[in-house]
Amino acid sequence: MSKIKDELIATGDWSEEQAQLAVEFNFECAYCDKNLISSVDSHREWQTDHIVPSSANGKDIPENYALSCRTCNTIKHIWNPLEAYTGKGAPSKNELIKIARSYVHTVRAKEQSDLDKYLKIIAQYS
Ligand SMILES: [Zn+2]
Repeated sequence: MSKIKDELIATGDWSEEQAQLAVEFNFECAYCDKNLISSVDSHREWQTDHIVPSSANGKDIPENYALSCRTCNTIKHIWNPLEAYTGKGAPSKNELIKIARSYVHTVRAKEQSDLDKYLKIIAQYS
């Protein structure tokens, strides 16, 4: 795995941090599993998410970073998974991602439902 990282960094296009995140998340969005290297369009969706948002004092450290597509990052934005954490002690990175995934999936389902409603209306006139 670190060989992939080293080769990506050697291209001159990847920072150590970006390559680390890419390998850690297998080039997929942490929240919707979208492959972020399958096309130019998907690659342009590539963003680094602060799992605990900066606005909630989330730190600028790899332990607080998740690879995210633009859509999921926009949905999650300043939503803080720590506020939904009900476990005891400090949650792990994976626990926070799991909580955030659930939130993102709920928002996505609601938006899909809205889209389905609009499509039904539009279909009547096409
Ligand atoms: Zn996503």
